[in-house]
Amino acid sequence: MPADTSATMPYPITRFSQASLQDYLDCRRRFYLRYRLRLVWPALEAEPVEAFERETDLGAAFHRLVQQHLVGVPAELLTARIADADLAAWWRAYLDFVRPDLSGIRPGADARLYPEFGLSAPLAGVRLVAQYDLVVVAPTGQATIYDWKTSRRLPQRQRLAARMQTRVYRSLLAMAGGSLNGGAPFPPEAITMIYWFPGFPAAEARFAYDNAQASRDRQALESLMAEAQALEEKEAFLTDDERRCRFCTYRSLCNRGVQAGTMDEEDESLETEDSSTDEDEVDLDFDQITEISL
Ligand code: SF4
Repeated sequence: MPADTSATMPYPITRFSQASLQDYLDCRRRFYLRYRLRLVWPALEAEPVEAFERETDLGAAFHRLVQQHLVGVPAELLTARIADADLAAWWRAYLDFVRPDLSGIRPGADARLYPEFGLSAPLAGVRLVAQYDLVVVAPTGQATIYDWKTSRRLPQRQRLAARMQTRVYRSLLAMAGGSLNGGAPFPPEAITMIYWFPGFPAAEARFAYDNAQASRDRQALESLMAEAQALEEKEAFLTDDERRCRFCTYRSLCNRGVQAGTMDEEDESLETEDSSTDEDEVDLDFDQITEISL
């Protein structure tokens, strides 16, 4: 029997991110514990612990380096600071991709780059938020979202297409990105999202956008956010896919075992969000986030 948490008063949901919506889709119980009860449960996500922590730290270090480079710290200076061989390999691949002067991702001298950019828009009575690794806006008004994925496996394209991140990031930029475009919203056709993988530098995954998809996404997000806000404890069912529980910190609470899964057995369908970029792990500074009224 899972532990009884019915005596704990749930918190209201005030915002959703791609990570919380993905949790809702993956496991209602996890969503309820993490976002309604805000329950922190000390357990490993995966074993061996040293390798898991190293992977998490490397991903965060890579994102920090890239952010520093994108705000103008010279590449040579950053290169000289890297001591780890794996991080150095990712960094070399990144510099080959973007070029030290950023000409690989800058479509023209007048293009604007927005690294670590936060956006928020009201939807379904609360806020939808996202923290983008990078948005590049070309003088033509084309907007490209870049997301650096430091996962050790190359995700399949159809899985990325179905992820909430792909839907939320493009949708939110179409809804709320006007501040990056002189006040005018980006037409969905002007938006592209690119996942780039430092471990697999030749394998970028590119997703275009269009009006029909934007309309479907907005409706789906609105209805999912309304449904998740109304979730009650008695409806917060445990997932049927018990493989997920092996990589979930709540597994002992749910009576789904105590031993964490190993990094070798974790397949991409079970991977949790990239912890270095998870909007719910990072304490977003909402003063720095662009918000619009719809
Ligand atoms: S242990 Fe399994 S059932 Fe429980 S919250 Fe995690 S994924 Fe859901």
